[in-house]
Amino acid sequence: MARVFNFGAGPAVLPEEALLEAQRELFDYKGCGMSIMEMSHRGKEYAAVHEEAVANLRRLMSLPDDYDVLFLQGGASAQFAMVPLNLLPPNGVADYVNSGAWASKAIREARVRGRVNVIADTAKDLPTRLPRPEELAFTDGAAYVHITSNETIAGTQWKSFPRPAAPLVADMSSDFLSRPFDPRAFGLIYAGAQKNLGPAGCAVVVVRKDLLDRCPADVPIFFRYKTHAEENSLYNTPPTFTIYMILLTTRWLLAQGGVNGIAERNRAKAARLYAALDGSGGFYRGTAAPEFRSDMNVTWRLPSEALEEKFLKEASARGLKGLKGHRSVGGIRASIYNAFPPAGVDALCEFMDEFRRANG
Ligand SMILES: *Cc1c(COP(=O)(O)O)cnc(C)c1O
Repeated sequence: MARVFNFGAGPAVLPEEALLEAQRELFDYKGCGMSIMEMSHRGKEYAAVHEEAVANLRRLMSLPDDYDVLFLQGGASAQFAMVPLNLLPPNGVADYVNSGAWASKAIREARVRGRVNVIADTAKDLPTRLPRPEELAFTDGAAYVHITSNETIAGTQWKSFPRPAAPLVADMSSDFLSRPFDPRAFGLIYAGAQKNLGPAGCAVVVVRKDLLDRCPADVPIFFRYKTHAEENSLYNTPPTFTIYMILLTTRWLLAQGGVNGIAERNRAKAARLYAALDGSGGFYRGTAAPEFRSDMNVTWRLPSEALEEKFLKEASARGLKGLKGHRSVGGIRASIYNAFPPAGVDALCEFMDEFRRANG
């Protein structure tokens, strides 16, 4: 069976090269007589995988030495809790931008732990949008400022990042390594693996080393970043197969010209799709304000829910899968992460044109 075009938001499409390599190595990893999944996480084969995955991530970000790269379980949602546990002192306040569904979840977790100041709230705005830098009034002495670089459900993406005095913390789950960014602008970055990096099973956390010492003493040892930083993410058994797949994905990314190379391809894919929306005479209506349109998750509506249902059904029959918008907002969403092939965007645009002519 041929592979379909998978527009799913996550877990999401992986590079074919990475899948085929994993398949080749699955049964007998490098002559060891067992798969990578069955080996000790303390052995030399797995150690090489772990080291190269970290090194590739560092290379892709041009990460300075005063930052650590961690693999932590519990996905991005665990980071919603770990960030305030580690960085929000009992008498402190943290600034959060509420830009949509994911930011809201991060805020809920932070409020369990301490004081939160929501410094901008665009979560309910339509068209969906993000605050402009001048709309942000940072709290003096805030412990950190939290943003969501790409709102996966709303289809919005920060095009430039704020520069607060406090450490900037970003949930980059749905656009990590999809475009260049300056890691020095951030105190901490986290990203669930299952969108742009690999299968589900862990979050990559990039943390500036001086922040590791801010963790209050009442935080359980396991939930301290420092615990995992000191043990190179081997404090306990890490999700070894997920990290192995991250290794294969980062090798593929490096072969695409790194983050600059993939960003160019991502911009071209998104531009093609947005041009199809804008050129449809209003039949397809993009839901994000143009200046905040995401290159990763493209969201739009049709004239009626009945037409949306028909659109999804016919698209699926053509092998264009996973286009249904998030259950909280409806509509259509095309997630076109790093590994999503340009040919899939071409196929979608062709289908959209035909569908509009038949139903418009
Ligand atoms: C998917 C997603 C999450 C949640 O990730 P989990 O790994 O399921 O916890 C958080 N933030 C953003 C921006 C996401 O896209």
